[in-house]
Amino acid sequence: MKNIAVFCGSAVGNRAIYRTKTHLLGKLFVENDFSLIYGSGNVGLMGVLADSMLEENGTVIGVIPQHLVDVEVAHKHISQTHIVDSMSERKMLIDKLSDGYLILPGGYGTLDELFEMLTLNQLGIIKKPIGIFNIDGYYNKMFELLDHFVAERFIRSEHKELFFVSEDENELIAKLKTFEPKETRKWLEDFKDTKF
Ligand code: AMP
Repeated sequence: MKNIAVFCGSAVGNRAIYRTKTHLLGKLFVENDFSLIYGSGNVGLMGVLADSMLEENGTVIGVIPQHLVDVEVAHKHISQTHIVDSMSERKMLIDKLSDGYLILPGGYGTLDELFEMLTLNQLGIIKKPIGIFNIDGYYNKMFELLDHFVAERFIRSEHKELFFVSEDENELIAKLKTFEPKETRKWLEDFKDTKF
């Protein structure tokens, strides 16, 4: 595991813990020789993470659509920037460059990226680790919602295991290093046999 894509907020949230934990994660990335692949922003938790790694001479690679460069939210001091035409192209390139994913607190953009990666893993199109850094329980209510979806049988219970969660940054780093992908083919075969 070397290149980790991080999806996180373009805001910093309302409490200092989101920034301090994100900053700490950046230091650990560099200590563990992880490169960061991310949305290239200089704003919010994205900016905090990139700056934390740059302070330690870490490798930070940004992928950003032209329209966001135009509104000057692109970080100007990172190791490498890929400029693409659209948000979807950005997601595809981020996926191509990454060995695994980490999701930090964020809003619609972050959730969109999380759920797309979960869907691709569910379909077996990608087999990469997806970790959620649940800083101070930020995502607890989302997990309750996902439990509801499982109870109502729109998400298979085994697909809750497509991601791992921790409030502890060291545990997440360890899991990213030791991750073994789960086989999802069986689900696809069952799905074909399902009568609607
Ligand atoms: P959000 O969670 O809605 O704040 O959106 C953050 C996610 O969407 C990030 O992981 C980025 O990939 C993307 N994104 C949203 N806004 C920006 C921005 N101003 N600059 C760069 N990326 C952004």
